[in-house]
Amino acid sequence: MTLSADMAGVIRRLDETVVNRIAAGEVIQRPANAIKEMLENCLDAKSTNVQVTVKEGGLKLIQIQDNGTGIRKEDMDIVCERFTTSKLQSFEDLSAISTYGFRGEALASISHVAHVTITTKTKDAKCAYRANYSDGKPKGPPKPCAGNQGTQILVEDLFYNVSTRRKALKSPGEEYARIVEVVSRYAIHNSGKSLSVKKQGETVADVRTLPDASVVDNIRGVFGNAVSRELIEVGCEDTKFAFKLKGYISNANYSVKKCILVLFINHRLVESGALKKALETVYAAYLPKNTHPFLYLSLEIAPHNIDVNVHPTKHEVHFLHEDSIIESVQKHVESKLLGSNSSRTYFTQTMLPGLSVSEVKPPSSSARGDAAGADPSDRVYAHQMVRTDCRAQKLDAFLQPREKTAPGPSGAGGASSGDAAEPLVCGLRQPPVDPHPAPHQALPAQLHQAQVRPQHANSHDSSTCWCVGFLKMLCCFSCVGSSTCRFVLCFFCCVGSSTCRFVLCCFCCVGSSSCCVVSLCCSQELFRQILIYDFGNFGVLRLSSPAPLYDLAMLALESEESGWTEEDGPREGLAQYITDFLRNKHEMLEDYFSLEIDQDGNLTGLPLLLDHYSPVMEGLPMFILRLATEVNWDDEKECFGDFAKECSQFYAIRKQFILDEGEGGSWRWKVEHVVFKALRSLFSPPKSFSEDGSVLQIANLPDLYKVFERC
Ligand code: ADP
Ligand code: MG
Repeated sequence: MTLSADMAGVIRRLDETVVNRIAAGEVIQRPANAIKEMLENCLDAKSTNVQVTVKEGGLKLIQIQDNGTGIRKEDMDIVCERFTTSKLQSFEDLSAISTYGFRGEALASISHVAHVTITTKTKDAKCAYRANYSDGKPKGPPKPCAGNQGTQILVEDLFYNVSTRRKALKSPGEEYARIVEVVSRYAIHNSGKSLSVKKQGETVADVRTLPDASVVDNIRGVFGNAVSRELIEVGCEDTKFAFKLKGYISNANYSVKKCILVLFINHRLVESGALKKALETVYAAYLPKNTHPFLYLSLEIAPHNIDVNVHPTKHEVHFLHEDSIIESVQKHVESKLLGSNSSRTYFTQTMLPGLSVSEVKPPSSSARGDAAGADPSDRVYAHQMVRTDCRAQKLDAFLQPREKTAPGPSGAGGASSGDAAEPLVCGLRQPPVDPHPAPHQALPAQLHQAQVRPQHANSHDSSTCWCVGFLKMLCCFSCVGSSTCRFVLCFFCCVGSSTCRFVLCCFCCVGSSSCCVVSLCCSQELFRQILIYDFGNFGVLRLSSPAPLYDLAMLALESEESGWTEEDGPREGLAQYITDFLRNKHEMLEDYFSLEIDQDGNLTGLPLLLDHYSPVMEGLPMFILRLATEVNWDDEKECFGDFAKECSQFYAIRKQFILDEGEGGSWRWKVEHVVFKALRSLFSPPKSFSEDGSVLQIANLPDLYKVFERC
């Protein structure tokens, strides 16, 4: 019988296989979908290693191997049936779903449009089992075989029975690109796990992440160095709308032709046009026209606020308070973006370590916000700063205002005063004299000379762009260690056209991405550490002529610093007491600390803590005095600690010595080549340094690189 055109059609029940095949087509639209589903299954099964191998863009073959919990042999019969799942039991469970999968559709769908083979082994099973599936059913009972714990799913000839779907697909190359995209995004989101994807027959994976890699490492691996250098970490928690945000976003220095938003909501890779649009608006104010940012965001929304049961592909996730959450994310991203470009804002954020608030003389430059102790709300964001002339911002902004002292007799450094033709960055020059003394060097006991502090041209006529200083500084970057990189220290000298002054800090990078200032007070800690760790092993720094302890003690007592008053008794008596006291301890002082005192009570040698480094003799009298008064000689442990403290204080670099031009040449060299070198290799900064300002983060390394480029 033939139907005429105007007759009603007869309604028939569709064959079950046809129904399933249609349903399968909805869940699995292309190889990348299949891979996403299977990847999520691996992660649901607590795998830490997932390897994806494909052939012909996944159309010929997809193989996913994991090391997860495996599938029990008893479940292998129904694993590919529709609506079979180990993850959801009641409808109520849906409101607290924590796994990717929940409705048991993925494997079933795949098995309706491809040949599926599952090989799996649970922890308790004696061996692995393998079964082939077609149209949701196993073709036979599972067969025992060899295998490690975990699951391998093989999908062959995808859409072999759906020719229309096959035809609609792009080239294998394009399908493969989508697969790589999915795997790499999950790889970024799952740092701590190892994910890889490669073409069959290739030995090298196109994406491979390592279990100990960080999110940024993974972003670098997938999207390259250029973006990974420009990332800002974002993160906030909102109790009102019950969500948490974590991620990394590119800063204003980076842009791409097409916006990349790697978005995970409750650990599921999703897309959100609304969020993307909101974020693009934020960046529009910062990026050149027609360029876009990179963002990796992971949103965790309370499960009861989210409806995952929307579409079989589960791409679309809707949630309660969507607009408010998007707005809140948008605000957070904007604030991070504003505060990020430290290369332009650090004048507003930092002060030199070691400077107390009262010592900071705000530079006249209006471009600088008030640094020390500034109320965070006064912070000046990049967009509020106007850079008119690079010379308006000088490195001097980092410097402690110089105390005015009377000009000394030495004019050695005066030649460069006011000489605008002087090289801009001169701090890295070698000193004119050979600065390499022999280990047992003759040290001129020039107590009086050392007290002379010549004063030279003040730094404020420096006409150098601060960028140049950083440029030079960047050249001096050196990295220590690799993964455990504690410190990248770099030596950095102040620039000035007239005088080469020394910046009392060095820059260092802790970890890989932040740049810090380490003040020279670190040098005291360095010497303290050397004294403790090298205890008993020091060389001797011999004085060219013995220095009488009595004279040293007298000098100290005459200084204001000693705090001596009439009540303490006559100085002479005290000085004699100190001399006798230390002379009696000469054996111990020599054995333990290489501090040599001869029979006549003269100091003849000091510990050599660092090759080519000798302390400034100006501090010697106080050191001797304090050895007698501040060290607890009765308790061995305390004695070592106290000695190390006093001695390191004496050896530490002090700013006033360095600022002296006369001595300056060799001091600069010493600090750069001896002290900072030792800081790099020997020093472990104590935790407190990050709190007390000895180490102070001032900028992100990427931003400094930007400064470099801008110059
Ligand atoms: P769903 O993930 O929604 O539960 P699927 O069809 O994706 O449904 O998977 C069905 C079931 O198969 C899962 O519930 C799980 O028990 C099991 N399964 C699938 N893949 C794996 C795997 N890689 N490791 C362990 N179990 C798996
Ligand atoms: Mg699943």
